[in-house]
Amino acid sequence: MALDAFDYDLVIIGSGFGGTMTALTLAEKLQGQKPRILMLERGTWWTTPVSTVQDKMVATYDFLRTTHKQPVQFWSSVEHFKGLIDLFLRCVRRPRNEDGLYDITQLGKRGWLGFGGENDGVSIVRASGVGGGSLVYSNITIRPPDFVLEDSRWPLTWTPAERERYFDLARHAISYGVVSAWREAAKENIPYRDSSGKNAPPQGAVNAGLSNIVTRSARLDPKWQVVADPANSRGIKRIDVAAGTPPEQQNRYWIDRARIFQTAMGNLTNDFGTVDSAINDLTPEGSPLDPAAPHNYPGAPINYCERQGRCNVGCLPGARHTLNKQLMVADHGARGRGLSRRVLTAGPGPALADDGEECHRQARGRRRRLSRHERDHVAVSRTRNLAEHQ
Ligand SMILES: Cc1cc2nc3c(=O)[nH]c(=O)nc-3n(C[C@H](O)[C@H](O)[C@H](O)COP(=O)(O)OP(=O)(O)OC[C@H]3O[C@@H](n4cnc5c(N)ncnc54)[C@H](O)[C@@H]3O)c2cc1C
Repeated sequence: MALDAFDYDLVIIGSGFGGTMTALTLAEKLQGQKPRILMLERGTWWTTPVSTVQDKMVATYDFLRTTHKQPVQFWSSVEHFKGLIDLFLRCVRRPRNEDGLYDITQLGKRGWLGFGGENDGVSIVRASGVGGGSLVYSNITIRPPDFVLEDSRWPLTWTPAERERYFDLARHAISYGVVSAWREAAKENIPYRDSSGKNAPPQGAVNAGLSNIVTRSARLDPKWQVVADPANSRGIKRIDVAAGTPPEQQNRYWIDRARIFQTAMGNLTNDFGTVDSAINDLTPEGSPLDPAAPHNYPGAPINYCERQGRCNVGCLPGARHTLNKQLMVADHGARGRGLSRRVLTAGPGPALADDGEECHRQARGRRRRLSRHERDHVAVSRTRNLAEHQ
């Protein structure tokens, strides 16, 4: 490989939260200087093996592998038993399976064939792949309570107001996209408010915002109270049991586990509520619940949560805000004009296929242009590739 293929201004190692947020921030902030940023990632791309709203033809795999010559793997198999085997055989990273998704470290004495081992009580799970921990995380997007960061052992010098600002910025970066966070910050619109009043996501968003997934399917209106919270502009949502002097009809919409946990916690304390999740739901909160408009997401249909509960082993409907989506837009979204548009139409989800009438039909009306820095300035490469070329 020619030497100038390695001529980059900045090199970022790892494509998880730290790496991706840094890379996209630098690309945005330094766009006038057109920096060439290289991300080195030890793992492969991972994608869903099934059709999704935004990728009916399951084209992402070929798009990455054939068009962009990238190493890519599917999440563990859809079938229950095969999926379980897949998790252990293909998805765990170990010698002779370095491309596994889960990098598991156990501290303690190693046994032989499972005998005689001793765990010190600490096991560490990390993800290995483009997007890092976002590939397997539980999507929970909460900020730590103040007392954690107010501990004098932290070397931080932020004021509470500065801290608020950074949390809101980070929340936007994972809710909608890193580039969007900086753009809205420049307009002093963080926390983000849609000026049209339609609860539409910001222009150029990769994801559709945070959600509170507690109902059995999207669009149901559970019985919840929204409690104002100075630390969260979305407020905290709690089950409303008091109103349910029997039977409270809407409480039946809650996912059983959420209903039981919240009811039990409500008996113990007033400090409880639903966590914010970085997952696209069918209808962003606050937009009209209109059964006559099945795709009433402002703009276009998106991948959305189907309540399968398999976030930690790979989201089949492609609804989670994994960082590989943001990187796909930044890196591969641009090569080849027609193709780039199709990738971008997928926005928060996987790319669309090169062929297929349905695909083209789906693509219409969902295009957005890549900004220049998104097109040109972030590349993802693999550590192993680097080693091979040395
Ligand atoms: C199962 C699970 C659930 C979780 N749920 C949540 C949650 O709900 N909410 C939450 O806030 N947090 C959650 N976390 C934690 C969160 O995922 C991590 O805090 C976060 O991913 C850390 O980001 P990072 O950038 O530091 O590292 P990572 O996201 O781990 O990224 C590191 C990247 O570097 C790559 N890498 C490592 N070594 C090399 C090398 N030598 N060369 C090249 N690349 C390399 C890795 O492959 C990886 O892609 C969860 C974690 C796990 C494992």
